[in-house]
Amino acid sequence: RFITLEGGEGVGKSTQLVALAAALRARGLDVVETREPGGSPGAEAIRQLLLQGSEDRWTAESEALLFAAARADHVARTIKPALAAGQWVISDRFIDSSVAYQGIVGHVGADAVRQLHAIGSHGFLPDRTFLLRLENRAAAERARARDTEGSDRIGGREQAFHDRIGFAFGVIANEEPERVRPIDAAGAPEAVTARLLAALEDLL
Ligand code: C5P
Repeated sequence: RFITLEGGEGVGKSTQLVALAAALRARGLDVVETREPGGSPGAEAIRQLLLQGSEDRWTAESEALLFAAARADHVARTIKPALAAGQWVISDRFIDSSVAYQGIVGHVGADAVRQLHAIGSHGFLPDRTFLLRLENRAAAERARARDTEGSDRIGGREQAFHDRIGFAFGVIANEEPERVRPIDAAGAPEAVTARLLAALEDLL
């Protein structure tokens, strides 16, 4: 099975990915943890191009193409081979981040971003996507705290940007309610992991 975690910055995706993978391994599953952009050597090289430098280094259109190229490599070289070998794959971000960031908020358009995904990755979609939702204020605080050690492009974004991203993910969740499940990311990390597992029960 292929599972993705989505949401704005600082909602706890990375923490939950590690915890969810551990919980699934405890049930005897072979789990691959991965992330976008990245997850294969070619895609990690593109990640460096995308995340280094100032936030306006790329236009939204160039960014959409680079993300689609990175994802194509990630799907072909890492995700599909793992699934074919019977492993579970959990990715920190995937197509829905591109639809939200470059498509809806970046004005490239959700349809155009999905077309790039159709070309690059044959429109390959997760079996289930969890949209981690957190009050924006709390998420912004977590992102700021992490910025001191993390990527240099996240800092300085205004609350209005985070609000637009939250809105965009909401639109995506409404469009595909069967695949995309909103999850309350507030509270103790263990409680959030329990919510994820409960919302995965039918696939186990
Ligand atoms: O939260 P995370 O470390 O995954 O953030 C990586 C950054 O990459 C995000 O701030 C987001 O702006 C950007 N991103 C994007 N489009 C994607 C995936 C990530 O703009 N498809």
